[in-house]
This record gives sequence, C-alpha cells and structure tokens, in this order.
Amino acid sequence: MAELDRAAGSPAAPGDWTYAPAPESRDIVHLRERYGLFIGGRWVEPSETYATISPSSEEPLAVVGQASPADVERAVAAARAAFADGWSSLPGSERAKYLFRIARILQERAREFAVLESMNGGKPIKESRDVDLPLAAAHFFYYAGWADKLEYAFPNRTPKPVGVAGQIIPWNFPLLMLAWKVAPALACGNTVVLKPAETTPLTALLFCDVLRQAELPAGVVNIVTGDGSTGAAIVDNPDVDKIAFTGSTEVGKAIQRRLAGSGKKLTLELGGKAANIVFDDCALDQAVEGIVNGIYFNQGHVCCAGSRLFAQESIYEPLVDKLKMRLETLRVGDPLDKNTDVGAINSAMQLDKIRELVESGREEGADIYQPPCRLPEKGYWFAPTVFTNVAQSYRIAQEEIFGPVLSVLTFRTPEEALEKANNTPYGLSAGVWTEKGSRILWMAQRLRAGVVWANTYNRFDPTSPFGGYKESGFGREGGLHGLEPYLRFDE
Ligand code: ADP
Repeated sequence: MAELDRAAGSPAAPGDWTYAPAPESRDIVHLRERYGLFIGGRWVEPSETYATISPSSEEPLAVVGQASPADVERAVAAARAAFADGWSSLPGSERAKYLFRIARILQERAREFAVLESMNGGKPIKESRDVDLPLAAAHFFYYAGWADKLEYAFPNRTPKPVGVAGQIIPWNFPLLMLAWKVAPALACGNTVVLKPAETTPLTALLFCDVLRQAELPAGVVNIVTGDGSTGAAIVDNPDVDKIAFTGSTEVGKAIQRRLAGSGKKLTLELGGKAANIVFDDCALDQAVEGIVNGIYFNQGHVCCAGSRLFAQESIYEPLVDKLKMRLETLRVGDPLDKNTDVGAINSAMQLDKIRELVESGREEGADIYQPPCRLPEKGYWFAPTVFTNVAQSYRIAQEEIFGPVLSVLTFRTPEEALEKANNTPYGLSAGVWTEKGSRILWMAQRLRAGVVWANTYNRFDPTSPFGGYKESGFGREGGLHGLEPYLRFDE
C-alpha cells in the first residue's frame, strides 16, 4: 500500500521500505509535431489527420495521418513497384543484409524505442525495455538467417515470394507485432504495406527512420496510419496478395468474409481466453509468479494472457491467499518509472470495455478482489483484479477482457481441468503447473491451444511458432512455420 501511495506521489513514512521514484528520461525521444504517411521511401502528406496521445496522461504527443483509400492505393502501388523493381529478385543473402542491419539499428536505438513505446502505449518501461525491444530485434536477426536458406527450409518446393503483403497490427505490442510481420515478409522477398493500430502509431513511424538508416530500397516497406477504415482499404485493395492480421476475433471474422473467393492469402491471429492450470503438486510460489505474469503483464493486454486460472481444489485456498498477497506488492502507475509493474490502460475505449465486463462479473455473482491502490487521476487506469467464485457460464469466464482481470475457477481431476480449459471458443495458449512430467505431456497433447507453456508463462522466442486454434485464428508466426504464409510454391 505504502509503495502504491508513493507511486502516486505521497511521501513514504519514515522506516518504510519503499521504492523511490525512478523515472526514465524522455529526452532521448525527439517527437515531430506531425507525421505523414511513409510511402515509397518518402513522407507523404495525408488527406486527414488526428492526434495520438499518451494514455497515462492524456497529453497529445503528435499529429498523425488518417490514410484514405486513395493513400492506401498509393502505398500499394509503391510496394508493387518495389517488388517488381528488384526486391523480389534480389539474392536472399542480399536481403539478409538489410534485415541484419535493421536488427542491429533496433538494438542500438533500443532505449529510444522503449521510451516511445511506453509513452504512446502505456506499458511499463521495464517491459518495453526488457521484452518488446529485445524480441523485436531478435525477430529481425532470426529471419535474416532464413533469407538465403528458403530452399533448405522447403526442399524440392521452389519457394517464391507472394508479392505485396498487407499487414494490420494491434496496439498491445506495437513494435513487436511490426517485427513479427515485417521480418518474415522481407526475408521471403515480399514488399509490405503496414498499418499500426490507431492508438499506437509512433514506434512504427520511428521505425521508418530505421529503414532510412538501413538504406532499405524505397517502397519495400510502406507505413500508413489510420483507423479501421484504413485497415479495410488495405484488405479490399485488389493489388494486395496477402493479408496478415492481428487483432480482435470480430474484425478477423469480417476480414475473412471479405476475402472469401478473392484468392488472397490470409493469416489471422485473434483473441484468446487462456486457461492457466495449477495442480496441487506444483511449486506454488513459482506458480503464483507465473499467474501474475500471465495476466498482469502488459496490463493484461495480451491475446495469450492466462485470464482463466484453474486451481485444483486441494490448493485453492493457499493459492488464492498467496495470489492476493502478491497483488498487494504490484506497483501501478507511471509507465516510465522503472519500478512500475502495471502501467496505463491503452485507451478510454478499452477502459470502458474492461469496466463493463468487470461490472458483469459482479452482477453475475462473482467475488471481486482488488489490492488497495491509488490510481493516478489523469489517464486510463484499472487496478489489478481477481474474481473468485466464478461459474463457467459467466461472461468474465467466457469473453476476452483484455485487461488486468483474472477469473479463478476450480477443478478436481486432470480430466475435469482439461474439459473446462477446452470449453471456450478460443484456443491460443494455455499454461500447466505441475511437478509431474507425464502429466504435462498428457495435458499438452489434449489442450486445444496453439501454445502450451509448462511451469512458465508468456515466454516468447522467434524460433518458436505462435498461433491459434478455433476462433483464435489460423496460420503461424515465428519459426520456420512463420515463413510459409509469405511464400508460394507453384511452379
Ligand atoms: P482491438 O479490439 O484489439 O483494438 P481491432 O481488431 O479493433 O482490435 O484492431 C486491430 C487492428 O485492426 C487495428 O489496426 C485496427 O485499426 C484494425 N481494424 C479495425 N477494423 C478493421 C477492419 N474492418 N478492417 C481492417 N482492419 C481493421
């Protein structure tokens, strides 16, 4: 409690063991007042604009473009020209050099990107610094390694680039999702039109400067900012060969409907409602850390968040007690403070959605617990929340909340855990906590989820494919599997 008060600005009592404020400086970030659209290697004036803000203070950060269908058309034409003018026929070893360069520049400029990511998205600097940036660079390094080895990756299949890739990404990991999409596309010889989410365009716009430094040929990567209508213009453009989308299941389904019969390739990475299953023989304290990381990491704005905790009945009470105690030590506040664990909710709209679902949890009869914490007055905030006494049918157990809200359910046997865990329209990820190796394998084989973590959670690596089952989407990103959507194999 004292720590949280301190984070909110009140002085610590004498003798209190609290964290002193440790703000990361914003000086390294040099924002322009206004950004255009990055098309054909140049900044192009958009027809309309809007202001992008910091969700932790509501302060406007810059004016950015709202790309119209005509702007998107120009971007697609630039990508098509770059594809035909040499990028697609460049030897893989040459394409790799650009990707290696981009990776190294991202490493060199990591602090600048991390600070900007936290300013524009609200996530704690320790996450953007220690997770988003290293992983984004790692994706470029990893796919740089594949660029000249595609024929070994797919022997006897003559892999060829698909063409122009339209890529639409969400606001929860803005730069990392860009890396997940751009790196494999370029490694395979495609060109790109990418649209960042409307609330978090700034790291994608700064990335254009990395492209300039890396001397990537003009038009190979084009970045258009804007809202869903800009995304829809990319999806509908007849000269786009492939769509890669990460976002909500609702929009993913709409895109799939629009593309039916068009012949465009499509990958969808959509929502989730992951089960994190804790057996009574697990290392309990370690599991508590994993549960906290599973749902409060990035304010729960994570499609693979472990939002449904299944606790074996025999350890339910000690587990929930320990979890509540641990929650009291989470520091909520300024994303740029290096000690912050939980930052700001990404937007007013998302905050409303979280509030609405939390209210439904109360109304349906679940018990709510929130640690004492004073939230900053300006900006969008939501306290870490745990619901106990949750029935499977409650909306908080069924719907993706995309916020720092955990629903705790119970089970007695592995079969019951499995049945309940799979009782969801989603299937992106799951976690299993047990000391018993055979049980991990038994569960992992039967859980209908693209990723199953054992005795850990939210671990990512560019070599490991990621993607969903059922309404969580299809196609894989990462690893060798992540190359396939960007290649065609016809002769
Ligand atoms: P979220 O609920 O996580 O904000 P969305 O699916 O609404 O997810 O947004 C993910 C991305 O999809 C964003 O870049 C958004 O602008 C874009 N988007 C929203 N609506 C559409 C649409 N109809 N067609 C294409 N892209 C869209």
